[in-house]
Amino acid sequence: MIIVMDPSATEAQVADVVERLSRTGIRVLRLDGERVVLSTAGPAPGTESSPTTPVGTEAIADMPGVSATLNGDGATPMVAAPHATAAPEDEAWDPDNGAPTDAEERGFQVKDRWIGGAELFIAAGPCSVEDADTMDRTAAAVAAAGGAALRAGAFKPRSSPYSFQGMGETGLAIAHDAAAAHGLLLVSEVLDATQIPIAARYVDVLQVGARNMYNTSLLRELGRARRPVLLKRGLAATIDEWLSAAEYIVAAGNPRVILCERGIRTFETATRNTLDLNAIPVLRERTRLPVLVDPSHGTGRRVYVRPLARAAIACGADGLLVEAHPEPDRAASDAAQTVDLETMAQVVSEAEVMKRAIAR
Ligand code: PEP
Ligand code: MN
Repeated sequence: MIIVMDPSATEAQVADVVERLSRTGIRVLRLDGERVVLSTAGPAPGTESSPTTPVGTEAIADMPGVSATLNGDGATPMVAAPHATAAPEDEAWDPDNGAPTDAEERGFQVKDRWIGGAELFIAAGPCSVEDADTMDRTAAAVAAAGGAALRAGAFKPRSSPYSFQGMGETGLAIAHDAAAAHGLLLVSEVLDATQIPIAARYVDVLQVGARNMYNTSLLRELGRARRPVLLKRGLAATIDEWLSAAEYIVAAGNPRVILCERGIRTFETATRNTLDLNAIPVLRERTRLPVLVDPSHGTGRRVYVRPLARAAIACGADGLLVEAHPEPDRAASDAAQTVDLETMAQVVSEAEVMKRAIAR
């Protein structure tokens, strides 16, 4: 459970809440920012398992100085998992955000779409925003194929400082216009906190790249953003570390986090990364957050994208993030793993077939 204190809460009120929780054997973590945020963090040292007397969120919510509580109803033990806010029992708390009203439901609303429900959420487009024509042709094809969103980076996290670094705000404007013209949402990456307000003017879903998954100050800032966040898994991050990164965003006030498996570094060199399909059922068990799979970065080679996209949906992924370009060999970045628009359309239609096959 996360407890957000009122900005005007007194130290005595904070201490009362901590005391109330601690009494039942729960360890409480405290974060001091504009407001004090308390988080339950597992049984206190020396306590073997979950507390025997769980405290309901309602009891805490009614205490003086408490502004909001996240997670669970009174009957749910608060500390079943280390990732309380992202656990399936959660009740999302921000009605503005189109949060789920039915406790059984997974996922949340992104503009007019639900992500994590019966429908798949497929975002496709070039690695980087290039010119308006490329973006428009791509967006038209994604919309015609039945995709939900255009993806394209304007701020690029390149391994070499001499590689193309992206078009910046100009690129965001181009991508925004292409997406809007074809009724698509736009997904694009931010590399640091200063880019959030700029990107938020154009982008529907803010992407955090694999290289930034551990950037906790960026994650905290995204917790204050009024946009869903697509959080890529770090290059060598465990699922626990990935969920903790998601927790940073949720705990800072933004419950709309989308997890995206994009492959991890292993000893295998035949592919750019090893796409960890295990992560999909693990995450479906451990969190209500929607899970996407990126078979492009996951494999690094365009011929492997279709089979891995099918496998991802078969394993229960809520959608895909795919790199696609009208002329993939000319893509400004990640050309080798970028599929052409015809292949992208096949990926989308095969995903729908897979969805029906598993009776999603
Ligand atoms: C991307 O989506 O283009 C990207 C840079 O991905 P990742 O952070 O997973 O490498
Ligand atoms: Mn890329």
